[in-house]
Amino acid sequence: MKGFGSVLAVLAVGAVAFATGAQAQSKGTVGVSMPTKSSARWIADGDNMVKVLKEKGYDVDLQYADNDIPNQLAQIENMITKKEKVLVIAAIDGTTLSGALQKAADSGIKVISYDRLIRGSANVDYYATFDNFQVGVLQAQSIETALGLKEGKGPFNIELFGGSADDNNAYFFYNGAMSVLQPYIDSGKLVVQSKQVGMDKVSTLRWEASVAQARMDNLLSAFYTQKKVNAILSPYDGLSIGIIASLKGVGYGSKDLPMPVISGQDAEVPSVKSIIAGEQTSTIFKDTRDLAKVAAGMVDAVLTGGKPEINDTKTYNNGVKVVPSYLLKPLLVDKSNWKQALIDTGYYKADQFK
Ligand code: BGC
Repeated sequence: MKGFGSVLAVLAVGAVAFATGAQAQSKGTVGVSMPTKSSARWIADGDNMVKVLKEKGYDVDLQYADNDIPNQLAQIENMITKKEKVLVIAAIDGTTLSGALQKAADSGIKVISYDRLIRGSANVDYYATFDNFQVGVLQAQSIETALGLKEGKGPFNIELFGGSADDNNAYFFYNGAMSVLQPYIDSGKLVVQSKQVGMDKVSTLRWEASVAQARMDNLLSAFYTQKKVNAILSPYDGLSIGIIASLKGVGYGSKDLPMPVISGQDAEVPSVKSIIAGEQTSTIFKDTRDLAKVAAGMVDAVLTGGKPEINDTKTYNNGVKVVPSYLLKPLLVDKSNWKQALIDTGYYKADQFK
């Protein structure tokens, strides 16, 4: 038995040596910093980044920061201390990372801004994202279509919700949406009874559903006891869920009081279910598999002396420089095309909606 034990020991040593050998072939470690696990989209982003980077031969240090700014900063500083090759960052607050990114640059570490633009720093090398202005346009167009505004219907009452004011994307979504909605507001076909217009009045800190729900409660009790609200611009599925809960609380979603038209973003499973059930009107699908491919392609290019693929060098000024970007196309998803967009493409499985 003793002999057998030592054979095992030799085998074990061999296995360790083999593992070390395999590791030595890694092209290095990439740090991936994600904001939160509280929304399914970011979990998918992290998983896809790990998958694509591993396929390209990298190790991945994936960290989630629980939507806590100091936590994210500490995680990124730790990645810099460990001299990880490239940092891919989806920032919680896009303005708080300048000090850390200076350290990264001083150590020769490149930085890729993921989905959300990092602001106020020269040390952001590339930006991988979706056409965020177009996201807002699509959200508003779905409201425009559902209400029949183009056909001259109205006037309708609408309330506006914005994303987190520390997320650069929130302004792009809002401005894109308002490029469609403002003319109707100006002509009186859309009326914001609360008069709460502008990101300074409608933003939702940290994209929290509870914050949106509380604001919707207040809007309903202050402005809609006599009147009905017909449409809600919501920039993100999580907020739409909070807003719908508030609306249901005062009886919307019944025959006499139909659910207003309501937009969303991210095609998260509970919201797609809500669309199927006839509550939420639409969402925006942003295929995180494609975003991971673009971002990982940028990583590989900067580390192997190639040129990252870029298709926009004008739009994303972060206050210090225009960051070279690759913008993917967002897709409007509603009752009519959710299967085609989300199931036929393999993004979700049909049984997730049973
Ligand atoms: C992302 C959206 C997401 C939101 C909340 C934004 O920066 O682009 O897809 O809905 O953050 O997580």
